Amino acid sequence: MEKIKLGISTCLLGENVRYDGGHRLDRFLTDTLGQYVEYVPVCPEVECGLPVPRESMHLEGHPDSPHLVTTHTKQDMTDRMVRWAHKRVLKLEKENLYGFVFKSNSPSSGMERIRVYKDKGTPVKKGVGIFARIFMDHFPLLPVEDEGRLHDPEIRENFMERIFTLKRWRRVLSKKENRGNVVDFHTKHKLLIFSHSPKHYQTMGKLVARAKDLPLKELCQQYQTLLMESLKLKTTPKKNSNVLQHMMGYFKEQLSSDEKKELMEAIDHYRQSHIPLVAPITLINHYVRKYDQLYLKQQVYLNPHPLEQQLRNHV
Ligand code: SF4
Repeated sequence: MEKIKLGISTCLLGENVRYDGGHRLDRFLTDTLGQYVEYVPVCPEVECGLPVPRESMHLEGHPDSPHLVTTHTKQDMTDRMVRWAHKRVLKLEKENLYGFVFKSNSPSSGMERIRVYKDKGTPVKKGVGIFARIFMDHFPLLPVEDEGRLHDPEIRENFMERIFTLKRWRRVLSKKENRGNVVDFHTKHKLLIFSHSPKHYQTMGKLVARAKDLPLKELCQQYQTLLMESLKLKTTPKKNSNVLQHMMGYFKEQLSSDEKKELMEAIDHYRQSHIPLVAPITLINHYVRKYDQLYLKQQVYLNPHPLEQQLRNHV
């Protein structure tokens, strides 16, 4: 299977590039996710020409436009980093990335809640690393996370879902473009989108319904924006339970009252967080196969990538 390309902060791969000569190897990223992805490492501080080891740095000034300053000698590295970062994102365009995993708490690579110092007061955790900000501004729709947040099972599952969905979507774009491929993609992803955002589900449904009236490029651009926006919104047990109940409706003729009761109980237990999502989904998948339910059979929500499937054991 063709691997997915993800950008990553180099130190997370175990490379000794940190200011103190160390690394921050993350085993989930290298051993588990690493089976499915090809990493494009980026270390802003080393790639912009700083040595290893080097003086540590932090952000100073206003959280919206902070400066990157060395901690003790107070050298301002902002211009150097910004100039390099703008060139680097242009090079990264050629890599066709599906997302980026940033190193948390870094004044260069951190994507959120980075300490920003002002005068002698307590730092506020409201900054974004200099490179991370330029990357996210340049690629606003790409899924991004940091390794700290990825320890949360729900955030991890959401990140994987966005990456694998983007992969399926880009496959559509790489085919000889036609509206039928977009409609087909939407049909298969309906319940997945619904589980994240019923509002986007409706808007995207309307967009696809007038697919014939729009230039194909505009249709694809609008659809992709809505798709990535919708998946960024978190699923919740309530939203997932609504999707599961909706699917249950497809079997109202076939299931016995005992089977309906069992499925309802599984959905209820999941909604109350007593069992993981994978439990009611397994039951529904069983009925989809047993009754050969063609519409549900093609739903990505029920048949995600194997890694996404495993991650549902924990949400
Ligand atoms: S956090 Fe970023 S800048 Fe610092 S060592 Fe890691 S990759 Fe390099």
